[in-house]
Amino acid sequence: MPEFCDVALPVPLDTLFTYRVPADAAPVVGGRVLVPFRQQRMTGIVVELHGRKPSVATKNILAVLDSAPVLDEQLLRLGRWIADYYLAPLGEVVRTMLPLGAEFKRSIGYRITEEGQLALHLAGMSGSSARSRRTPEEQAAEFRVLDYLAARAVETGFEEKRAIGKDTVGDGATGKGTASAVPLATGNHPASATEVAPLVREETLRSATRVSRAILSGMLRKKWIVREDVSAPQRAARTVKIAVLKSADGKLNENQRALVDTLAASGGRVPILTLQALEVPRTTLGTLVRRGLVEILEEPAEFTVSRAKPRPSPFEFDFNSPQQAALARLRQGVAARKFCGMLLHGVTGSGKTAVYLAGMRAVLEAGRSAILLVPEIGLTPAVAADLHQIFGEEVAILHSALSDRERAEQWHRIKRGEARMVVGTRSAVFAPVADLALIIVDEEHDASYKQEETPRYHARDIAVMRAKMANAVVVLGSATPSLESYFNASKNKYALIGLPDRVEQRPLPEVEIVDMRLEFQETGREQVVSRKLAAEIKDRLERKEQVMVLLNRRGYSPVVLCRSCGKKLECANCAIALTHHKREHRMICHYCGYTAPVPRACVHCGSEYVYFLGTGSEKLEELLHGMFPQARIARLDRDTVRGHEDFERTLNALNEGELDLVVGTQMIAKGHDIHGVTLVGVVGADVALGLPDFRAAERTFQLLTQVAGRAGRGESPGKVVLQTYFQDHYAVQYAARHDFAGFYEKELRFRSWMHYPPYSALANVLVRSNKLDEALEWSGLLGHWFDKSRHADVRVLGPAAAPIMKLKRDYRYHFVLKSPSREKLNTTLRAMLAYASQQKVPRTQVIVDVDALWLM
Ligand SMILES: [Zn+2]
Ligand SMILES: [Zn+2]
Repeated sequence: MPEFCDVALPVPLDTLFTYRVPADAAPVVGGRVLVPFRQQRMTGIVVELHGRKPSVATKNILAVLDSAPVLDEQLLRLGRWIADYYLAPLGEVVRTMLPLGAEFKRSIGYRITEEGQLALHLAGMSGSSARSRRTPEEQAAEFRVLDYLAARAVETGFEEKRAIGKDTVGDGATGKGTASAVPLATGNHPASATEVAPLVREETLRSATRVSRAILSGMLRKKWIVREDVSAPQRAARTVKIAVLKSADGKLNENQRALVDTLAASGGRVPILTLQALEVPRTTLGTLVRRGLVEILEEPAEFTVSRAKPRPSPFEFDFNSPQQAALARLRQGVAARKFCGMLLHGVTGSGKTAVYLAGMRAVLEAGRSAILLVPEIGLTPAVAADLHQIFGEEVAILHSALSDRERAEQWHRIKRGEARMVVGTRSAVFAPVADLALIIVDEEHDASYKQEETPRYHARDIAVMRAKMANAVVVLGSATPSLESYFNASKNKYALIGLPDRVEQRPLPEVEIVDMRLEFQETGREQVVSRKLAAEIKDRLERKEQVMVLLNRRGYSPVVLCRSCGKKLECANCAIALTHHKREHRMICHYCGYTAPVPRACVHCGSEYVYFLGTGSEKLEELLHGMFPQARIARLDRDTVRGHEDFERTLNALNEGELDLVVGTQMIAKGHDIHGVTLVGVVGADVALGLPDFRAAERTFQLLTQVAGRAGRGESPGKVVLQTYFQDHYAVQYAARHDFAGFYEKELRFRSWMHYPPYSALANVLVRSNKLDEALEWSGLLGHWFDKSRHADVRVLGPAAAPIMKLKRDYRYHFVLKSPSREKLNTTLRAMLAYASQQKVPRTQVIVDVDALWLM
């Protein structure tokens, strides 16, 4: 066994850490190990085993947690590629790839030291230390902590320490026993002297003593307490006991007969818990087992995502000819076992999902694996029920409502090969399937595929890279493909497959544009709902048809303004106006969640002339109630939808005809089939056009096209009334004509002039600090460095204040880097990070966002 191993740890440092491998340990590349790191223990992934002695002293690994890799060679290679492409620490990348956090939840504990005992003792003698610069409150808080920890030490003595020690080093995790000899506190630790002090978990300590982290930090500095990691490996997966009927022969008494009949009626397999609900003595089952009539098996707990009943016929597999052609191309690609990228450009309602599912079914029949990625809001319980109906037990569904533990269970099912069809949001792209044949990215333009925290990866681009590594087929599907994907298709990097028609020859809806500037001139007042839209809604309601109205802004009023001093009411943490939420009777920041009371007077000057301006979805709903008192109206936005079930309930009500009108934010625009909607109203979907972001036009075009696509999916043709203040803008005009190609040409010209993607690789570098002068100093340092060092073919814009200059208490400055060469861009970024680290700018305060979607 090589003497050393390099470990990727989930810390914000661009480096691997070398540890010595003890003689009796056998770590594997791609497997997890427990290692000491600073004052803690941490779980990391072994990325290399070698015999190169490092120049600095190394510590031993504490325990080997896996005897086989959790990340196979291909996923580890993918992880390295992500770290390199997005300039993210490898340890943070692999943590994202493995949803196994629940198995090794990090937990911090504190124990009192001898110094702490002494301080407590002296305090008891003299009251308090006269030389202290602490406030009486701080001193009181510190002594509450010491008191609590000391009392626990007396109560529990050695027993608890032994128990925690066992728990911490994870016996049973490996069977190797390397860790069992490791003491909890190492020699250089003051804790080693205080044998009796137990470790108290941070949550317990803080809730018992009500102290802040700052107090604990101060006490750590004085060495009164020490802090340790209490990582407790947990069992990987929940299991259930299943009774299996082997034979029904032989004489049975009444109770035994009842059990056997129940089993037989349920196909011969029933969870024991279900049987226990029968009015039969518990011993009966034992008797049947002894007689060999019933067998008990332990199985992974079955994952049920949905209580919704499957729809009678979820998908039409009766294809029109473009669908058939698309499916044939897909199957051909899969059979070839070579990388192949396809862009499936199908208009809204053209039946893309049916093609995906038929393709996946073919992969399953060939005994191989497939992954289907869907946007955040795409996975409703009804969709899950459909998937279960089509793929049975072979499907694993990974959605955002899963707990860490459920996510880990699904991961293990996939890893064991029990589920070869994986459906999920962003991180499902890392599912550990074997023999991957197909990855599908549904609604590939959707922004939820981009992770907005480290590592800032885009799941669509990872899907393409993973398919390349696996010689698999990747299908990107959308009615409004991203500029990048369509550009790649036009350069023959992907095959372009079109689904130009709606299923059953349904027409695309007619779109009528209402110019809101004209509406203002003609009516003399600022209207929310134009006369045209009001008339069309009235007409649909009279015909018992359904209506959707989009307003992509939640809350009641987005701005509160003082007419005396002209100031807005802003968030305390962000440079963002607070939104008035009427029902909750609060002012809320949509970026950080900060809330404030609704002001009666201006907080700046005390004037009573405060005005609530603008309209959000909550106010629109109220307005429509006033205009159409008979109509049954619901609202879909992040205030009314807390989970998938809320969303599902409203959609069901709409499908069942229990609603006449639904108001909502962009949530209503996303891929749902509602057959009764014949009118879609758009109220201010073009807000985004006013934002300083080069993707504003693309986003507006996509949103307008998608929401228009909700109209007329049933028997009756649909209509869209699009209210806008930007009626001449090409994004609005092309969306109204359902003209993707026209929009694409025009937008591409703009991108080309401005050297924006897809004509360049782009990165946003954000420098942030909660101290304004620090943010200025650091961004100045980096700006100076960019100026004086040479970067061939890389344009650097900035430093400039970010459009949202203050967010969640941080002041923010940014640079935008563009280059025709991705390699040169990344070389510059890497050099910049090295310089920042040399200048002691913390790595967490310089955010590099490669292929940034937002420059805000
Ligand atoms: Zn004022
Ligand atoms: Zn805020």
